[in-house]
Amino acid sequence: MLEHDVLVVGAGLAGMRAALAATEMGANTGIISKVYPVRSHSNAAQGGINAALVDRGDAWEEHAYDTVKGSDYLGDQDSIELMCQVAGEELISLEHMGVIFNRDDEGRLGTRAFGGQRRARTFFVADFTGQAILHVLYEQLLKSEITSYEEWFVTSLVMQEGKCCGVLAMEIRTGRVYLIKAKTVILCTGGLGRVFEPSTNALIVTGDGIALAYRAGVPLMDMEMVQYHPTTLKGSGVLITEGARGEGAYLLNKDGERFMERYAPSMMELASRDVVSRSETIEIAEGNGINGSVLLDCRHLGEQLIKEKLSQIYDIGLDLLGIDITQEPIPVQPGMHYQMGGIKTDVDGLTSVPGIYAAGECACVSVHGGNRLGANSLLDTVVFGHRAGNHAAEVSKGTTQEPLDVEELVGQEEKRLAEILSRDANGDRVARIRLDMGTAMNAHLGVYRDQNGMKEALDTIQQLKERYTTVPVEDKGRTFNTDMVFDLELGLMLDCAEAIAVSALERKESRGAHSRTDFPERNDADWLKHILVTSTPEGPKISYSPVVITQWTPEERKY
Ligand SMILES: Cc1cc2nc3c(=O)[nH]c(=O)nc-3n(C[C@H](O)[C@H](O)[C@H](O)COP(=O)(O)OP(=O)(O)OC[C@H]3O[C@@H](n4cnc5c(N)ncnc54)[C@H](O)[C@@H]3O)c2cc1C
Repeated sequence: MLEHDVLVVGAGLAGMRAALAATEMGANTGIISKVYPVRSHSNAAQGGINAALVDRGDAWEEHAYDTVKGSDYLGDQDSIELMCQVAGEELISLEHMGVIFNRDDEGRLGTRAFGGQRRARTFFVADFTGQAILHVLYEQLLKSEITSYEEWFVTSLVMQEGKCCGVLAMEIRTGRVYLIKAKTVILCTGGLGRVFEPSTNALIVTGDGIALAYRAGVPLMDMEMVQYHPTTLKGSGVLITEGARGEGAYLLNKDGERFMERYAPSMMELASRDVVSRSETIEIAEGNGINGSVLLDCRHLGEQLIKEKLSQIYDIGLDLLGIDITQEPIPVQPGMHYQMGGIKTDVDGLTSVPGIYAAGECACVSVHGGNRLGANSLLDTVVFGHRAGNHAAEVSKGTTQEPLDVEELVGQEEKRLAEILSRDANGDRVARIRLDMGTAMNAHLGVYRDQNGMKEALDTIQQLKERYTTVPVEDKGRTFNTDMVFDLELGLMLDCAEAIAVSALERKESRGAHSRTDFPERNDADWLKHILVTSTPEGPKISYSPVVITQWTPEERKY
């Protein structure tokens, strides 16, 4: 019998932080990941993690204000305050666990500037910060009592009388289905980047936990808020970290003009991401781009700085474009990067459904609102992962495990998967549906949106959902059946895509990353509220919840 007090789904930064917190509280803790843990997308985070340290003359209130403004006033200010207050503590505790952050010339922890912030408060390890932190947390995990299920795929949440009592999961190596009982389940499954094509996100970032929670009746919040990062490579969508602009790189148009001067005269290239992505899109549309791109120029930073602090993007330039970025500018364009919305939780990761918690990118606390500031996501994962782990462990102490009919539940899930495996070839393919979905989402739910385009995307998604019900899986075996995994992921992604399109159609204004050409202005009177979407047998249902304002009254946003 596989059984835990706390079961964490996902072993990225949020999941590992949550599991470590739960085990420290004495809970019998399990963690499950569909990939080997250090392959989680957190590994790809380049630029850094934000914290306002008092001994630098910084203050959490300033960090909080920048975050609130960055969110276009849609972030909940009480949650943002909390995150910014504990950021320093979390950062130092990562350092004490063994993360070797870059240091400045005086030997203190070094910082770099990041977008939308008036101070340099981003702590970093060259341009592989996520990898450095993830590996250190994994070392802590290996040393702990936590049971780690590696390369297991969660297919469903087990619900009994409105409460979550565990998960059903497929061990990918054997294809066998198991029930893992748990008093509380913390979803830390990351974002949904690959619902869009292209995206900066790894191929495994498919919104699984968001869709699993949605299917279990948990409302999703702010789903219309999808971040397009200003500097991704054309075609592949590979990310060039904001750290490059943080170190001083320029954005240029075809005439060699630093065009951000016209859009954000004070913050220039370091305005918030939504602002920079819109500016680039306008430049390209007005014929000031070069083959659909603008240029990111790092040349003046010098070879030594580039090779020391931006070594990964130096390699990306050489390997993917065949260019030496110390000598040539990099062609870049806005590309899908991050989902601000997700599973609605409170600051302890609790959702409205007993037994289900969420933290990290799959959750919406909401600290990012309409637009996330760079380097606030890693902070979000550790702060709220930590809190969710603590809270779930505490709640599990007072909870008794519900009796479950394990054989019956496993049998039903085996049958569902067997039906998928037994489908005959019909000319359709999982990869085709996935690409059609991603292309439609990128075309109509990207940097600029309008009613007709979004409606077209929603129609496409609904047709693809139909096709999905009969799409065959080509590999009929059980051992390491990645075709089967791709099929299951696609079903979950389509639910996420629909939730995004429905929420975006609902918001009839422009705010943060949601820019509508048919409603170009922000409209606080009608839309200073969160949009929630809940799954019902009749389809997605919309509701609203208020935005928490503590000390910053919404103002016009200028950079
Ligand atoms: C290229 C890139 C660079 C970035 N750079 C930065 C940066 O510099 N600073 C910053 O703050 N943010 C950055 N971000 C954003 C940030 O990295 C992510 O938001 C964050 O790491 C997400 O962490 P997570 O723990 O929520 O999820 P992830 O790290 O994505 O982990 C998800 C986990 O869930 C597991 N999982 C998912 N579905 C299932 C399932 N069905 N069954 C079992 N397991 C499952 C996966 O195996 C994985 O272990 C970047 C993102 C990208 C893509």
